[in-house]
Order: sequence, then structure tokens, then C-alpha cells
Amino acid sequence: MRYAESIAELIGNTPLVRLTKVTEGIRATVLAKVEYLNPGGSAKDRIAVAMIDEAERAGHLSPGGTIVEPTSGNTGVALAIIAQQRGYRMICVVPDKFAGDKVATLRAYGAEIVEVPTSVPPEHPDSYYSVSDRLAREIPGAFKPDQFSNPAAPRSHYETTGPEIWRDTDGRVTHFVAGVGTAGTISGTGRYLHEVSDGRVQVIGADPVGSIYSGGPVHGFLVEGVGEDFIPPNFDPDAVDGFERVSDAESFEMTRRLATEEGLLVGGSSGMAVVAALRTARDLPEDAVVVVLLADGGRGYLNKLFDDAWLDTHLSSSDDTDPEDTP
Ligand code: PMP
Repeated sequence: MRYAESIAELIGNTPLVRLTKVTEGIRATVLAKVEYLNPGGSAKDRIAVAMIDEAERAGHLSPGGTIVEPTSGNTGVALAIIAQQRGYRMICVVPDKFAGDKVATLRAYGAEIVEVPTSVPPEHPDSYYSVSDRLAREIPGAFKPDQFSNPAAPRSHYETTGPEIWRDTDGRVTHFVAGVGTAGTISGTGRYLHEVSDGRVQVIGADPVGSIYSGGPVHGFLVEGVGEDFIPPNFDPDAVDGFERVSDAESFEMTRRLATEEGLLVGGSSGMAVVAALRTARDLPEDAVVVVLLADGGRGYLNKLFDDAWLDTHLSSSDDTDPEDTP
């Protein structure tokens, strides 16, 4: 019999699939790494297991402990799965504007939700950051992974995502493209691919217009999980060779094309990464191999970017949106 002992064993080793429809006119091979096939539906499963393993090893978490993280997104789901599998309590601190499907998903996995007001500054005692810090301090045996600064997050991509890409392309990958949020993915995978190829692999970050990484004025954008208004500690500038700026409209159009033409129902950050990958691939020769990471699936966005009315209303007023978003 061939089976896993637990769903957590099935994290990683995601497949590559060639993009054949959206790549018209491109000679290079463009391969998508399908991270929504992870058990929790995103690349965040990789960092969750790594951050919890490290916390256990360092003695920050022991049986009966509690994990507290400010997240309403994929990291929350990933941590909730690891928490239940290992018998920890999971508390997600969530800004109230995210109430809805994402929070329902976290509850479904057994996480507890603490809602905090969205519209207070970070230093306010009721903010997302203050409340999660306080809970981590006050609850005995509590641990806050902090995906923005925890070195286990980029390390998990250095140890898994990077080697998988190198292995599955037989070392022929020439370019790697991924969206950048906490920067764990690009920093860990990028550093590995640079090292293993002696700097031959070019690493490109895909960044929403309005985010800090690619320069230019910082303002709101709609694509979720990527882009920041500050440079997080986990960002390693040496791991990245350049950035491509992508607008919300371009990201969402490509996200919809991936669903209708390639059979890949993915989130907006994946559409954004593919736009950046196709720009990167445009003038490359036939023997170039561009790997683009699709960070999560599209089911969580059916009432947003896949909804025409939502798109019409929001794209026209996207300058009013809040850059604060939870990866
Ligand atoms: N896409 C989505 C949907 C995400 O949730 C995240 C994580 N914030 C990313 C891309 C970017 O990954 P990272 O945080 O590793 O930069």
C-alpha cells in the first residue's frame, strides 16, 4: 500500500506544467509550478511546516502550546493544518475587513479567530500587530511564527522549492519568476537557484504597481498576497536580479485567461507572476526555460476578480484601496 501518514507529509513536490496557450509568439519554454496542489492550497504550506519544526526544535513550542499569527490568508490555513496535526491551538488575528470566506476557511480547519479593527495604525493597541504580540506574550506557551522575519520561511524554499525546480528541469531552468509578498519565496528559491547555477539563473520578482519592491510611488492595489509598503526582514536583495511591475488590470486579465485557456484556476498573484514571466520570456531563445510560481488557487477569489461586476467597480477605483494586505 502506498499512502501518507498525514496530510502534512504531502506538502511540496508540486508539479511543473507547460503553458501553451497564453505563450503565443514566445519561443522559450514557460513552465508553471503549481503550488495550489499543496494540501492547504498554497505555497505557504512549505513555510508553515518549516517554521513550526524550527520552533519545536528551539523549544519555543511544546505540547499544549498555542500558535498566534496575524494572518487571514494562506499562511493561516497552512499553520492551522500543521497546528491541528500536532495538537496545538491556532489563533489567527484577522482585520475585520477580511471577514468572509477566508475567515470561514480558517474556522473550518479549527482555527480560532480574533477580529481586530482594520482602520487603526500599526502602533495602536487594537491593531493587527499589537493584538497578536499581546496574545503571544500573555498566553502561556504561545508562539508567533512571524512569516515576515522568521528565517525558517525563506530557508524552506531554499531547501524544497529551489531543489525541486532544479531537479524537475534537469538543471535547464534559466529564469525563475515569482510574486513577492513577505519575500520568503523569492529569497529562498532565488538564492538556491543562484548558488546551484553559479549565478546563471536569472531571478525576477513580480510586483504590483504601487508596491515598494519595484520602486515608484507606494499606493493601494487590488492583487492579494503580494506587494508591500515596507521591506520585510526576509527580503534578500542578492537573491533577486530584477523586478517587473504589473498593474491590477493586467494581473486579473491573465488570471482569467489561465482559468479559461490553460485550465489553471489560480489567484491574482499567479496571474501577475505569469504576466511578468511572459515579459521576461518575450525575447528569449528557444532553449530558455522560464519557471513561474503559481502561489495559490482561484477558489477564494470567485466573488472578486472572477466576478465581472466586482472587477468593473474595483478596477476603476483601485487607487483608493489599502496597501495593507495579509499574505
Ligand atoms: N501569492 C499569494 C497569494 C500569497 O499569499 C503570497 C504570500 N504572501 C505570495 C504570493 C508571495 O509569497 P511570499 O510571501 O513568499 O513573498
